[in-house]
Amino acid sequence: MSKEKIWLSSPHMGGNEQKYINDAFAENWIAPLGPNVTEFEKSIKTYLYSQKLGEQEVAALSSGTAALHLALILLGVTRDDEVLCQSMTFAASANPIIYQGAKPVFIDSESKTLNICPEQLEIAIKDRISKGKKPKAIIAVHLYGMPYNVDAVQKVAEEYDIPVIEDSAEALGSSYKGVKCGTFGRFSVLSFNGNKIITTSGGGALVTRNSEDKNKAIYLATQARDDAPHYQHSEIGYNYRLSNICAGIGRGQMEVLDKRVLARRDMFQFYVNLFKDIDGIKVHEEPGEEYYSNHWLSVIEIDEKKVGLNREKLRKHLLTEEIESRPLWKPMHMQPVFRNYPFYGTQVAENKFNTGLCLPSGSNLTDSDRSRIEKAIMNGLKK
Ligand SMILES: *Cc1c(COP(=O)(O)O)cnc(C)c1O
Repeated sequence: MSKEKIWLSSPHMGGNEQKYINDAFAENWIAPLGPNVTEFEKSIKTYLYSQKLGEQEVAALSSGTAALHLALILLGVTRDDEVLCQSMTFAASANPIIYQGAKPVFIDSESKTLNICPEQLEIAIKDRISKGKKPKAIIAVHLYGMPYNVDAVQKVAEEYDIPVIEDSAEALGSSYKGVKCGTFGRFSVLSFNGNKIITTSGGGALVTRNSEDKNKAIYLATQARDDAPHYQHSEIGYNYRLSNICAGIGRGQMEVLDKRVLARRDMFQFYVNLFKDIDGIKVHEEPGEEYYSNHWLSVIEIDEKKVGLNREKLRKHLLTEEIESRPLWKPMHMQPVFRNYPFYGTQVAENKFNTGLCLPSGSNLTDSDRSRIEKAIMNGLKK
């Protein structure tokens, strides 16, 4: 009998999603606007509220990539501008820089969070300025749900007066010093792609600090129509709004987000316990009390010399047991398509890429899935 596949991270519906979709059908709101979109935005806004930073505004969009693209446009990034970007990330963080005809400048990671290294960031800013061009924006990412060092990045950004785009695509439900990720920086980006902590099948959001920015984002996301009965345009627009059907899924998902975060964190704890006595395997934990990760994906680092196998061997072994695992994001400065852009750093991201592995982390994994994972990993390590 063939075993059922255990996925890295698969969609996990809460129950009410279909009800909201049925509402949309009943009222014929089959459009990129409607009550589900409005309510979905409201629920995210409520979720992100903090006393410290106050209310945020939320524009629901067709993807996180679209949100990143609009953030760059709203910051005025255009042809030949430079944008500093965390190198270790999913390509979607960097691609919109190219959409704008701008140039990415990649920054290494710091070891403790895997995210943008504040020291290398400052070195890069100084060097780019000395070469005659001040970067227009910084894209910092909370990889796998682990917050980047918000205070340190913010300090550098403020010192040189460069706005931060917070790529929180993987970090809905994470927080830094008690404040939710998705509320830092000048703009924040969320993703509801199929593999994220909650999903709308495909979707994203731009989180803004004021309604002016939100309205501008929605205007650009709906083909930049001027206020006129005929279709008049003074700017280039995009078709980036979220559909009312997908937003219905999002409404149901927001109702269970807290549960999903706890389940992912519980999965992470399972790995902490599993590896606690294994010399040479390090679980990627929060580096301090300021950090609270949703642990979207649980990450381990394998010391091949101590363990006797590398991450590729373990990955392949798990695959023979129908268990999906995945190397960390291959840094952008190592990608063929970005090879010719500048990079500031050493080998931190590269080493993490070579030794790291993401393990099955879904909120819907069962006890029997866990036993299978445990057995497969232990057998793999014995080989
Ligand atoms: C998923 C993801 C995105 C893009 O979001 P989409 O909704 O898939 O377009 C951007 N950045 C990071 C770090 C992501 O993981």
